[in-house]
Amino acid sequence: MAEAGKTLHLEVITPDAAVLHEDVDFVLVRALDGDLGIMPNHAPLIASLSIWPLCYDKGGKRQYVTVASGFLEVHDNTVTVITPASEKPEDIDVDRAKSAEKRAEDRLAAHAADIDTARAEAALQRALRRLDVAEKYGKQ
Ligand code: ATP
Repeated sequence: MAEAGKTLHLEVITPDAAVLHEDVDFVLVRALDGDLGIMPNHAPLIASLSIWPLCYDKGGKRQYVTVASGFLEVHDNTVTVITPASEKPEDIDVDRAKSAEKRAEDRLAAHAADIDTARAEAALQRALRRLDVAEKYGKQ
C-alpha cells in the first residue's frame, strides 16, 4: 500500500495482464457520469468507467493508458481499475486499431437489421481512443 496521505497506489488489471502497478500523485478517469479526479486521501468509491483514457501524474509527468470500460475502486489510497482491455501508448498496434475502426464504421454504415449497434459503437470507441493515445503519447 502507498504511504498514507502522500501517494496513491494505482493498479490497472485486465484478464491478460497487470498493465500498471505504480505509486502516483493523481489519477483522472472518465466514469459513466463524468470525469473523476482522485488525489491521495480520497474517500472510498466504486465507479463504472467509460471507454476513455486514464491519465495519472507521477514525478511531475502526466502519463496515459487506454481503458475500455470496466470498474474503478478507491480504497485506502489504492486505486484499482479492472477493465477488459488497457494498453500503454507504446503497446498500441496502430494498424490493428485502424482496421478495427474501419470494420466498426462499415458495420454502422450498413444499417443492417442484424447489426448489434451498441457493440459496433463500443468497438469504434475503443479503436478511436487507441488511435488518440498512440498518436499523442506513443513512440515518436
Ligand atoms: P480488435 O477487433 O482489433 O481485436 P477490439 O477492440 O475488439 O479490437 P478488445 O476486445 O478491446 O479488442 O481487446 C482484446 C485484446 O487485444 C486486449 O488484450 C487488448 O488490449 C488487445 N488489443 C486490441 N486492440 C489493440 C491494439 N490496437 N493494440 C494493442 N492491443 C490491442
